[in-house]
Amino acid sequence: MKETVLVTGASRGIGLATARLFAVKGHPVALNYHHSREPAFEAAREINASGGMAMAVKADVSRPEEVAAMFETAREQLGGVDILVNNAAIARQSLFTDVDYDEWRRTFAVNVDGMFLCCHEALPYMLQKHSGSIINISSMWGQVGASCETVYSATKAAVIGLTKALAQEVGPSGIRVNCVAPGVIDTEMNAHLTPDDLRELAEGTPLLRLGRPEEVARAVYFLASDEASFITGQVLCPNGGYVI
Ligand code: NAP
Repeated sequence: MKETVLVTGASRGIGLATARLFAVKGHPVALNYHHSREPAFEAAREINASGGMAMAVKADVSRPEEVAAMFETAREQLGGVDILVNNAAIARQSLFTDVDYDEWRRTFAVNVDGMFLCCHEALPYMLQKHSGSIINISSMWGQVGASCETVYSATKAAVIGLTKALAQEVGPSGIRVNCVAPGVIDTEMNAHLTPDDLRELAEGTPLLRLGRPEEVARAVYFLASDEASFITGQVLCPNGGYVI
């Protein structure tokens, strides 16, 4: 049996592409969602119908009791989580002076507290069996900062710090922790951008296009795989060369 995977925010976009790729490679997969119940269940049904093993599980990753219940359900139905992909996040563009404290707190709660809570739930099992892999999804904006996305950039920088520190702490216990920092990827997260904005972002990318969710999924899969067995604490950047 291949390792069990839990992907947060797997109802669409990068999370869904990641869950599908692990399923195609033979891994049992738990697809977490918050609001988008039907797309998550539909994806799990499709995976099961094509011979894979998947389940959809609801949790707002910012809520400790919901995260605990999600891991309990995943443990009951698929066994302990061997590979955790912390992908769920929210983003909104606005001037820093227009961001109120509630929005700041909510963005940190989902993008950073969510990772803390999921790592806390996942680690005891990984520590006990002396193996496991955690992949945290950051962003190139966490590396270089984005105007009008200060809160989001701050959360994504925190993800990189968490990854590096945790990798050092749990490396001796046989657990690898890595980060993927994508560039501009064609998902609903960018649905608010105008065609002109998107063209400009594509033109600013040396590969002259936006990335696809499947291209980020392959980076995540690589880091979780045995091919990356000596890689931990690193940031892999599927960004078309936007940030080098
Ligand atoms: P997306 O299309 O907006 O999808 C976000 C996912 O996160 C959805 O499945 C959503 O689920 C889930 N989610 C949001 N809040 C949640 C919560 N509180 N609890 C549980 N799940 C929650 O985003 P995406 O573009 O695929 O982005 C995925 C990751 O890549 C994020 O970490 C993002 O920051 C990062 N990223 C994206 C880009 C990009 O250009 N798209 C670039 C760099 C990094 P529900 O709909 O069920 O609520």
